[in-house]
Amino acid sequence: MRGKLSVARIKALSYAALALDGLRKKRRNRTGPTQPDPIGAGAVVLDPADSKTFCILPFIHSYFATDGQASLCVLSPEPLLGGRNGGGLNVQRESLKEIFHSPAMDHARRQLLEGKKLKACAVCYDAERLGGRSTRTHYNMHWQRQRPDLMARIKERQDKAAFDKPLSVDFRYGNLCNLRCQICNPHNSSQIERDGVLSKWRSANYLRLEGRFPGEWYDAAELAEEVVDFSSDVELINLGGGEPSISRHVQKWFSRLIESGQAAKIELRVQTNLTNVNSKFFDLVVQFGLPRIFLSIDGFGPFNDYMRYPSKWRIIERNADYIAELARRSKMSIHLTPTISAYNALSIVHLFEWAAARGFDIIANHVRGVDALDCALIPDEARALAVQRMRDFLKSVTSPIPNRATIEDLCRYLEAPVDAAYAESSRKKFHAFTREIDHDRGMRFEDYCPEMAGFLGYPSDASSFGPVLNVERATFGTTT
Ligand code: SF4
Repeated sequence: MRGKLSVARIKALSYAALALDGLRKKRRNRTGPTQPDPIGAGAVVLDPADSKTFCILPFIHSYFATDGQASLCVLSPEPLLGGRNGGGLNVQRESLKEIFHSPAMDHARRQLLEGKKLKACAVCYDAERLGGRSTRTHYNMHWQRQRPDLMARIKERQDKAAFDKPLSVDFRYGNLCNLRCQICNPHNSSQIERDGVLSKWRSANYLRLEGRFPGEWYDAAELAEEVVDFSSDVELINLGGGEPSISRHVQKWFSRLIESGQAAKIELRVQTNLTNVNSKFFDLVVQFGLPRIFLSIDGFGPFNDYMRYPSKWRIIERNADYIAELARRSKMSIHLTPTISAYNALSIVHLFEWAAARGFDIIANHVRGVDALDCALIPDEARALAVQRMRDFLKSVTSPIPNRATIEDLCRYLEAPVDAAYAESSRKKFHAFTREIDHDRGMRFEDYCPEMAGFLGYPSDASSFGPVLNVERATFGTTT
């Protein structure tokens, strides 16, 4: 089943999902509004932009995770219940249409129409308490702009899906991935599933069910056909993984959408780790109406090699140049989507500068649900320094960063008070986890990030960003 680690790595192509997730109760001492949303109470919500609870996604969106488990969206940790055998709804067992029109989805829609908050959506409500924005508010505004008639349709359909087929899909074709990133888990990486050391620290096991398809469910030709049919009205596709660029079914799906002419009307958001730039895949991507590439990279230079083992920074950089050139010749946009953790909070501005120098947007997020990596474990002084660096970066950067608000939200998150007991216990987990991973990989955290290591009690030169990084930083920069 999907545990809390399924949201550890924010592989979502989502906007500014600043949230406290499962840690919110123990870590912060905040309370938010609990009364029902007056706009939605007992009636159809007419203006989602004004609602504090309503989300448009359950009416038009279909999501399944890397193990086929369905939930309202990628951010929602609650599986949709009501599957065969009494478990969660899962494409390994249930069809996409069955899930989209299931009683569980109808129930969620009804609750939203009545102005109620969904437990499954806590991540968005928490984010809004901190920064005012969330994936919920993003998509409510997005769809209001794209389809001004949509709310009238929802009013007519009530708790049923707005259409027979979704307007928006977010599919994760299995956990096939070539990396074993420090902050990831077996749910999102087949390599971690096989890694006895890292997987031991991650409770999100990968689920394989006796289901509709023999062998690996995500390789099934029947599922590929089902996806093609189910997505025939789609206007927005999110693809994460695993690593979607290495899925042959994804390429076939894209080809079919292009051949039918539908791709030209679709906004396509693809997440990639950029270790494997396959020109055939990108040739398909640029034929979509609005192609957007989201880069999962968490560290600059050699620090990348530590964080996203066994990727190599020189390959990442070469591939970044390739897709930057492709973007210059097409409508494709590129967005860096780093996840900030106790490892990279201090040095992440290097990566921001690198991205800005290439004209990439930045969508910053932070690790959630993993005590051993939570930014809360960093001493106050280090968190203040991280915030200062990010704000300095924002002041000095000269290239446009459309999602710069996500960096401001991140600063606010880092400034929020932290429960001392939680921080202390997380620090202990950080040390134990890091020691074990380092030993297994023959690497040392303090060599790759001496400054943060110094703050965390490792012997290091705490006055330096790290010698390797300092040398390489001099070779780029659009900031003043
Ligand atoms: S409110 Fe947030 S978590 Fe819930 S469905 Fe909408 S985007 Fe997903």
